[in-house]
Amino acid sequence: MQPAGINRLERCRGDCVEAELANRRRENTRQSMERDLLRPRVPERCGTHPDSGLDGHGAEPPSSPVGRAEWSRTRARGKVLAVLLKLFGIDSEETAEVLRRGRHSLGGWCQQLRPARRARPLRCCGVEARPAASLLVTDLDNTLYDWFGIWHGSFEPMLREIVRISGVPRKQLESEIRVVHQRRGTSEYSALLQELPSLLDRHPAEELPKVYASAIEAFRRGRKRTMRLYPGVRDTLTAVRAAGVRVVAYTESLAFYTSLRLRWFELDGVVDILFSPADHDFPAGVSVQDIRKLPNEQYVLKLTEHRHTPPGLLKPEPAVLATIVEEMSSDKSGVVYVGDSLMKDVAMAQAVGVMDVWAQYGVAQSREGYDLLRRVSHWPQEDVEQERTIADQPHVAPTFTLTSGFGQLLELFHFAGPHVDAQ
Ligand SMILES: [Mg+2]
Repeated sequence: MQPAGINRLERCRGDCVEAELANRRRENTRQSMERDLLRPRVPERCGTHPDSGLDGHGAEPPSSPVGRAEWSRTRARGKVLAVLLKLFGIDSEETAEVLRRGRHSLGGWCQQLRPARRARPLRCCGVEARPAASLLVTDLDNTLYDWFGIWHGSFEPMLREIVRISGVPRKQLESEIRVVHQRRGTSEYSALLQELPSLLDRHPAEELPKVYASAIEAFRRGRKRTMRLYPGVRDTLTAVRAAGVRVVAYTESLAFYTSLRLRWFELDGVVDILFSPADHDFPAGVSVQDIRKLPNEQYVLKLTEHRHTPPGLLKPEPAVLATIVEEMSSDKSGVVYVGDSLMKDVAMAQAVGVMDVWAQYGVAQSREGYDLLRRVSHWPQEDVEQERTIADQPHVAPTFTLTSGFGQLLELFHFAGPHVDAQ
């Protein structure tokens, strides 16, 4: 029988953890609200009417029905936000001033009001306390493995080789590659060579994969050299599963390369369910067999269930994560989501209301070569700029942060779930 003092301490710790988590969730709600204020939903009004308040004061309703509907929504949203700001204890004069300044000036105001705070482990009664976790949902790229290192380590040598063989200026190739990547919705496009206009012009009657075989080989060599998991990832996932907790992966990378990497890293079966977009289409006249060396079944996951996310739904849109949580957990408060992107992963997890964890060790934006990714990426220019801004001046504050590696999850959370028979 435990002494009464120990029982009191245990109860105290439980209460502390709940109270601290509730505090952090309230803080996240407040920050989500601030981000909502920053999101430009009516750019034409923001850009041309400096006096137009969030609640519609100082602006006349537009004449078109669509414009009027948006004007009414913005006005209603502004009023709700004003009430919420007051509830959070912000002076009403200050609130009114903020509303008068309009949406564009809110960025600086919000950051002055609430600078990004550093996440810290929960503490209770003077000691660290771990919240209970019953489902782990994790991002893949730059969270479980160094996706940027793999991408750059394979793409850069391939591009150098294409420039050498073709004689086409690198800058021109980069712009053409960006167009193809954007058209296909991925920066890992298997049939890239066959769609580059300058290569098609130079070799109208030749098979491009044969002409550029050394470039493809340079890509494969680079990929083999750089493909590795971050330290401690497999052990941590194994420990989480051994505690009866299911592991779900959710990535924006397309199906083929994602399943290839999970098999390569021997995570097939360690991850219970993988959510990713389906694979890209191929240009006319090119088949999967033309691109891939092995039969298709060699690339398919055998043990992990692979589901496809709806087309066009990308992070930080919360719908996919909300569905995963609803389907796989009866208690949302026990769900942990880990990802390396503040803008996408952390913001999304906070919007869904699960415990968000920032894999800070995976941040790649300041690494050498990242500008090449920005120049050829499929991301819209707006996203590239937004990511750059957030990297310089983050205004999304994570609840938990992994600084040294994925294995820190076991220090931050007490994983315990009912799926022990699934091991
Ligand atoms: Mg990522």
